[in-house]
Amino acid sequence: MNFDMNSSKKDILKNAHLRCTQARLDILDVLQHSDMALTQKQITDLLKDKYDKVTIYRTLKAFVHTDIVHKAYCRGKIWHFELANRCGKEQCHPHFSCQLCGKNFCLVGTSYPAVQIPKNFESLRQKVLIEGFCPDCKN
Ligand SMILES: [Zn+2]
Ligand SMILES: [Zn+2]
Ligand SMILES: [Zn+2]
Repeated sequence: MNFDMNSSKKDILKNAHLRCTQARLDILDVLQHSDMALTQKQITDLLKDKYDKVTIYRTLKAFVHTDIVHKAYCRGKIWHFELANRCGKEQCHPHFSCQLCGKNFCLVGTSYPAVQIPKNFESLRQKVLIEGFCPDCKN
């Protein structure tokens, strides 16, 4: 078995029952190589306009639908997407938003207690967004 980056991306698509297309592989690749969540525009730019807006929009939609990708947070009405592989089943890793420089951080490897919600609600996944000052801005 060959477990290079390419075959693992194919496996990701296969497990999600998504047909393997070059656009899907390329977009997965961009997300895999980013340590922060990306907007549709950033993905388009990183792929040097190889695909049109509609293709990227539809691909992200299929990824979110099949839980390969999570919508991490919304900033200025724009969603930021990231691979779901660094999130737990019941909670996403927390995100941190610096109130001075505006940078967003993925706090991978941290967890938080489950929030108690009323019994008649059903939780699918919890997300936490923390606002504050990043290490560079703190002083
Ligand atoms: Zn997540
Ligand atoms: Zn900052
Ligand atoms: Zn993240």
